Amino acid sequence: MKNDIEKVYYSEEMIQNRVRELGQELKTEYAGKKPLLVGVLKGSFIFLADLARALDIHCEIEFIAVSSYGNGTETSGEVKMTKAIGDVIRDRHVIVVEDILDTGLTLDYLKKYLLSMNPASLKICTFLDKPSRRKVQISADYVGFECIDAFYVGYGLDYAGEYRNLPYIGSLKPAIYS
Ligand code: 5GP
Ligand code: MG
Ligand code: MG
Repeated sequence: MKNDIEKVYYSEEMIQNRVRELGQELKTEYAGKKPLLVGVLKGSFIFLADLARALDIHCEIEFIAVSSYGNGTETSGEVKMTKAIGDVIRDRHVIVVEDILDTGLTLDYLKKYLLSMNPASLKICTFLDKPSRRKVQISADYVGFECIDAFYVGYGLDYAGEYRNLPYIGSLKPAIYS
């Protein structure tokens, strides 16, 4: 796996330090509110697991699944929900946990869907934010790192289903795509 990586953008140490900071920030904000973390599958599963442990307050965890990417590196533009969520959102303080905010189409869709279920509050926490690629106007409330336009793998992010289990975030050598 390591041989396929061209450049490491965020090392394991950088990631872990930043996740601890985010956990502290959320802890202060949500103490006594028992937030509901909603992880967007599959990409967020590692970030969510680390964030939940860094949060260190009472919370609950749910997952929702959407797909828009297929196997490539460009979004199809069409968001499809592949795992919905029951009526557990109502009156809850919801924090949507995402791996990366890119064009914004996924979170724009999810935000509308979740807001229609009347949460007490709804905030978005994304590990990476690629603002230069945005197609719809949406921003995250909590961001791990603002990143440049590249295609990242690792720490939950995949290419054709692989590389999610890298403990750091990097880009792939061009030969891997061909
Ligand atoms: P958006 O709807 O904001 O364009 O994209 C959201 C989803 O596209 C992310 O949750 C992620 O699954 C995928 N995505 C966007 N940028 C990247 C990237 O750089 N690397 C990988 N592996 N997936 C990405
Ligand atoms: Mg995602
Ligand atoms: Mg993907």
